[in-house]
Formats: sequence, C-alpha cells, structure tokens
Amino acid sequence: MARQMNIQCPNCRNPFNAVVESVIDATADPQAKARLLTGRVNTVSCPNCGTPVTIASPILYHDASKELLLVFMPMEVPLPKPQQEKVIGDLMKELTARLPKEAMKGYMFNPKQALTMQGMIETILQADGVTPDMMNEQRERVRLIEQFMSTPDDLLESVVQQNDAKIDAQFLQTMSMMAQRMVQDGRPDIAQQVLATQQMVAEFSSFGKQLMEQNRVQEEIVRSVADDIQTIGAGAQRKDFADLAIRYAADEQRLQALVGLARPAFDAQFFQELTARIGAAPADQRDALEAVREQLMQLTAMVDQQQQLVVQEAAALLQSMINSPDIEAIVDENLPYLDDAFMSVLTANIQEAQRTGNIQLSARLKQVYESVVNKLRDNMQPELKFINDLLSMPDDEARTALAENIADFGQPLIEMMDAVQEILASRGEGSLLEKLATLRQDAVQALE
Ligand SMILES: [Zn+2]
Repeated sequence: MARQMNIQCPNCRNPFNAVVESVIDATADPQAKARLLTGRVNTVSCPNCGTPVTIASPILYHDASKELLLVFMPMEVPLPKPQQEKVIGDLMKELTARLPKEAMKGYMFNPKQALTMQGMIETILQADGVTPDMMNEQRERVRLIEQFMSTPDDLLESVVQQNDAKIDAQFLQTMSMMAQRMVQDGRPDIAQQVLATQQMVAEFSSFGKQLMEQNRVQEEIVRSVADDIQTIGAGAQRKDFADLAIRYAADEQRLQALVGLARPAFDAQFFQELTARIGAAPADQRDALEAVREQLMQLTAMVDQQQQLVVQEAAALLQSMINSPDIEAIVDENLPYLDDAFMSVLTANIQEAQRTGNIQLSARLKQVYESVVNKLRDNMQPELKFINDLLSMPDDEARTALAENIADFGQPLIEMMDAVQEILASRGEGSLLEKLATLRQDAVQALE
C-alpha cells in the first residue's frame, strides 16, 4: 500500500516523485516488512544529486500472526493529539479495508505507538523472537565488517586473526546480505568492495579456511560423479542411473551431486522402474533399495525447489528492468546475474507477450533483450566474440573470415574453440559442433 508523493531534495532543491508507504501488512507483503526492517521504507535517493532523503511520514504496521499493530508517528511532524488520532484512524481504515471482517480482533483497536523508526523495528524483531542480545550481536557484526572494510589490505590478515573467534557462518552471511542491499540501493561499487573483503576474511579466518576445505571436497565429489555419468555415456538408460544411485547408496553427498547433475533422468518413469526393480529384488535387499528411492525422491524435490527459486529471482530482476526508466543502467548494474536462467525467463516472457498480443510489453521486453545481449557481447573475450560471430555466419563466409583473422588471434583462439566445443557438446548442439570442428581444423592448419 503505497502512494506517490512529490518531495523536494534538501540538498539540491530538485523536486521529484517518491513512493511513500504508509500501511505495511506483514502477511500480505512480506517484502515490505523486509524493507522496513532494513531501514529502506520511505528513504529514497535524490535522482539528481544522490542525497539520501528520509520522508517523515506516519506508518502503520500490522502482523496478524503476532497480533501486532504498531503505529509510527515521526517526530518531524508534531501533530496535536486530535489530529494524530485522525491520521491513525485514516491508516486503520486503509488497513481494515484490505482485511476480511473476521480478522478484526481486540488488539486492532489499540495500536501501540512507536516514537522512532528504530523503536518500531526493535518491537517487530522482538515479536519475531529476535532478542536484544541477538540484535546486539548483529550490530557488533556490522561494526566489525565496517572495521574490516576500512582496514588497508596489507593489515587485514592480522586484524582478521585478532577477531578470528567472531567469524562464523552468520558473519559471512551478514556480509553477503550487505552486498545484496548495496546492489538494490544502486551502489554495485560498494557491493563489490564488500564481496572482495568477504573473500579475504574467508581466506584469513579459521572458519573460512574450514569452509573452503569443505567446498573443495564437495567440488571433488561433483567432479567424480560427473566422471561416472560420462562413463555410462550419452546413450545411458534410466536403469544405468539407478545402478549408479544404488552404488552410491549411503553416500548422501554423491547422491545429491548425481541428482543435481542429471535431474531429467530422475523422472516419473525412473521411479516406476525403480519400484518394479525393488519388488523383484531378493527380500533382504529391499529395505536398502527403498531407502535409496526415498533419498532420491527427497533430492529431486529439493533440486526442483532450488530451480524454482532461481527462476523467481530471475523473474523479479526482469520485472525491475521493465519498470526501470533507464534500462541500460540497470542491465549494467546486474551484469553478474545475467545467466542462463535469466535469459530463458526473458525469452519465455517475450514469447508470452507476443502470444497474448501485448504490444507495449513486448516492445519493452525486446528493448531489455537487446540491451542484455549487447552488454554480454561487449563483455565477451575477443576470442569468444569472434567464435560466436563465426558460428552465426554461413559456412563459406565463416571459413573466409577465419582465414583473414587467424593471424591476429593465434593459439588462444584454438584454446577458446576447445572450451566452446565442451559447452556445445554438453548442450547436445550437433550441427554447431560439426561446424566448429571444421573451423578448428582450418585454424590449426593456418597456424602451423
Ligand atoms: Zn538532490
């Protein structure tokens, strides 16, 4: 529940429109709650000079699950009591208009007043079971992060080691969240610094070292499972995947890697076949096989859920691009997130807009698409860009272009061709693979 308001920048006097939120219902809009808790409700940056501006405006906060109704009246707008009550009454009307009648309860007639935004945030956190101790710990983490960020690189190792005991999963997670918030606030430069510091903190701390070792072991497992999948080959049947899963049986990490790498192999038919196989197995083996089936079912559900999250995030990013007045800028800021998942969500949206005949949306999406593709192309290594161009030309033209340019690229082009070859092979792009093989031969001959 938000409205537009015209405000004036206190620094440069530039007038601009800002979104003001006055009623936040935690159940209806959990993201608004998250914005409130991170101090991002009713604060905007002046589009002209970047000065952060806090809009002093009353807020009503409601969380039905906690029976919590809070009202924040900023001290910047002191109102006589009767007028205050009118403001609260208006906000209540706005809130209750959205709620079903049976949701009205006693606590709703007597909202608690918060005198400061911080007070409001603390009350909400306490109702969520976040104790003052936990809040203090979090403040301490933020303070320490700021200290690390302002420490020169050559001294950081010793400063991290002095604080070694304070560095744990929550600490590193707080840094990730900080970086995320900076990106959302339009400061990807600071986000980069936070992530670079996080990387060093991980390298210098005992917890970070342990974590990196775990990751290394995990990567090794994924690699060895990928090798096993490669060994059963491209023509592998569901039965071969079942054999592999049964071989891993008690090794949860290996099973997880297997499902993650080859999710499509574990479809409904796979489970039917496995069930039949369990039925036909000797009685003394059935329990173990059933345990494997149970694990595989849980893992497929988990992978699907993660996949859904990735798609949701990509869709949210696309939405903010469509809404942005400056597509180029927002694409630029989000370059690291323009991955395969994002591209497939974008293409699906373009197709859907065309299908439903939504011309305006479809034009906007194409603008996003062009900007994204241009940015990705600009950021490609020159060798990759060249190979990409070659693959999109007719065969003869491509061979001519290669002959003309091979001397400029030299050996690195062959190496890049091998990397592209691997990617194409993993995607089963047969005809492109053939074309690439021909070009590679030409390139090798030309360089000899
Ligand atoms: Zn300004």
